[in-house]
Amino acid sequence: MKTYNNSKIKRGTTFVKDLSHKADQYLNAQEPFDTKDTILKIIPLGGSEEIGGRNMTVIEYGKDIIVIDIGMKFPEEDQPGIDYIIPNPSYLKGKEDRIRAVLITHGHMDHIGGVSQVMSMIGNPPIYAPALPLAMMQRRQGEFTTLPALNGHIAKLNEKIRLGVFTVTFLHINHSIPDSTMIKIETPEGVILHTGDFKIDATPVGEAPADLEMYKKIGDEGVLLLMSDSTSASKPGRLVSEMTIQNNIDHIFENATGKIIVTTFSSALNRIQQMINLSEKYNRKVLIEGFSMKTNIQILHEIGYARFSPQTIISAQEARNLPPENLTIICTGAQGDERSALTRIANKEHRNFQIEPGDTVIFSSSVIPGNEESVQKIKDALAKQRANIIHYQMMEVHVSGHAHKEDLKQVLEIIRPKYLQPIYGDFYSLKSHSDLAQEVGMPRENILLTDNGRVIQVYKGEARVTTQKVNASNMMVDGLGIGDLKEMVIRDRQSLAQDGILTIVVLLDLKQSKIIRDPEIVSKGFVHIQTSTKLLDSIKERVKEHIEKKLEKEGQYQSIEDIQQSIREDLGLFLFKTTHRRPMIIPVIIEI
Ligand SMILES: [Zn+2]
Repeated sequence: MKTYNNSKIKRGTTFVKDLSHKADQYLNAQEPFDTKDTILKIIPLGGSEEIGGRNMTVIEYGKDIIVIDIGMKFPEEDQPGIDYIIPNPSYLKGKEDRIRAVLITHGHMDHIGGVSQVMSMIGNPPIYAPALPLAMMQRRQGEFTTLPALNGHIAKLNEKIRLGVFTVTFLHINHSIPDSTMIKIETPEGVILHTGDFKIDATPVGEAPADLEMYKKIGDEGVLLLMSDSTSASKPGRLVSEMTIQNNIDHIFENATGKIIVTTFSSALNRIQQMINLSEKYNRKVLIEGFSMKTNIQILHEIGYARFSPQTIISAQEARNLPPENLTIICTGAQGDERSALTRIANKEHRNFQIEPGDTVIFSSSVIPGNEESVQKIKDALAKQRANIIHYQMMEVHVSGHAHKEDLKQVLEIIRPKYLQPIYGDFYSLKSHSDLAQEVGMPRENILLTDNGRVIQVYKGEARVTTQKVNASNMMVDGLGIGDLKEMVIRDRQSLAQDGILTIVVLLDLKQSKIIRDPEIVSKGFVHIQTSTKLLDSIKERVKEHIEKKLEKEGQYQSIEDIQQSIREDLGLFLFKTTHRRPMIIPVIIEI
C-alpha cells in the first residue's frame, strides 16, 4: 500500500499533480526588461489563482508604491487551527517610506480583512477607502487594542488623489455591498483600471447603475491595462438583475402568512437592506440574528447609509410578542453553520423561536461548495416542520456580485484596454477570462495571466509577465499570533484533528531496570476506550515488551527522552499498520 505524508492528504479531494514549477511555461513568462530605466511593476501578493483570496496588489514606479486591497482568506481543510490567512508583505520590507497609500476597493473581508495586521508591518501608510469600507476597517481595528489607529481617509467618488507619480480616482461600480468601487490609476506608462469585485446591472436596487458612458470615455482616452474580476468568468450569459430578484422576493413577502426567515451572508449588505425594505412595505418588523450581521447594520446606521427606519429593527424580546405575520428574521446560517441562528431554529434549539407550519424560509445566497450536505440537513429539518422553503435554485432569490461571461465581454468592448490582467479566481477562471477576451478580439499575448508573487513589468508601453517572483507565501493568523506558522505545528494539529491523541503512562524504576506497573493509556479522538479493549491491551503489552527489551539491552544508562522517542517510533509504526491512523503519541514516563 502506498502511504502519503499526512499533510498532503485531504479527505474527499482528488489528487492532481502540482505544476507550480512549470508556471513560467503555462503563464508564458518572459525574461525581465534589460534596462536601467524606471519600469512600472505590478505584483499580486495575493488574489491570483485562488478564490475568496487574500487580495493584495502592489503597483510600483521608481520611488513610489501604492497598494490595492489587503484581504484575508479562510483556511483550507488541511490547515486546522488557523483562523485566517493574510497576504505576506515581506516584499515591502525596507520600502515602507516609499508606500504612498493603500487603496481599498470595497468592504468585503477578502479585500479588507488583512488590513489590521498588515498595516503595522508596512509602516501604517495612509489608507484611502470609500466611507463604508473605511468605517468597517476602523471598527475592526478597534478590536485589536495593541494596534495603532488607521491613518484613514475617505475616498470620494470621481475625485483625483495625487500619490507620488500616481493619480488615482475611485469610480462607482455595482457589486453586492454599498460603496463598491473601481479604481483608475494614472501612471507614467498609461492608465490602469482595477475593477475590484464587480457586476454589471442596468437595474440595481437601492443604488445607481454603473456609469457605462463614463467608462467608455475613459476607454476613448486610452487604457493601458484593465485588471478585471474573473470570479464568474466561466459562468455563461449575463448575470440576472437585482430588479428581478426584488420582484421575486416581493411576491414571496406578499403571499407569506407566517413569519419569514431570511438567511444570507452577513456581508451581503445590499440584500439585507432589500429584505428590511420589503418588511417595511408588508408591515413586518425585523429581527437581526448574528453578531457580524448586527455589527454591519449598525455601521450602516452610523454612517447614514441605512435606507430604513431605525424602528423597523427590534429586539428578540419585542419579536417574541409579535404575531408571526408581522415578523421577519434575518440571520446567518445559509452555509449550514452549526452555531448559526437558523440551525438552532431548525433543530428546535433556539431560545426564542421555532418553526410553525406556514412559516417561510428564504435561502438568499448560493451554497459554497463543500457545504451542500449541512445545508441539506437544515432544509430537511425545516421541511419536517412544514416550513415553506425557497432557495436560489428553485427561484431567483439571490444573485452573486460578480459579472458573468457576456458582462465581462461588454466591459472589454467598452473599455478596449491594450492589456488585460484577469484577477481574482482559480487558474481555471483566469483562463476562462482570457478565452472570452480572445473571443472579442484581444490577442493572447496582450493577456497577462499570473500567479501570486509574479512580477509584471511595463516599459515603453509594452507589458510582460516576467520570470521574476517575490515572496507571496501565506501568512497564517491564529488565536495566538501571526507568522509563517511552521509546517510542524500545522501537522501536529492535523494529526490531532484527524487521528486524535494517545497518551501512555509508564512507571519506571530505572535503577532496577524494570517497569513497576502495567502502562496506562488515555486516548482522545483516536479509538473508543470501552469498545477497543483488545487493541488497547495489545498496545500496553507492546509498550511493556519494548521497554523491557530496551532496558535489558542498554540498562540504566539511557535517558527518559530516549525511551520516549523509541516508544513513539515503535508504537507509531504498529498503530499505522493495525489501524491506518497516526494519532499523536505522548509517552509519559514517571521515574521512581
Ligand atoms: Zn466583494
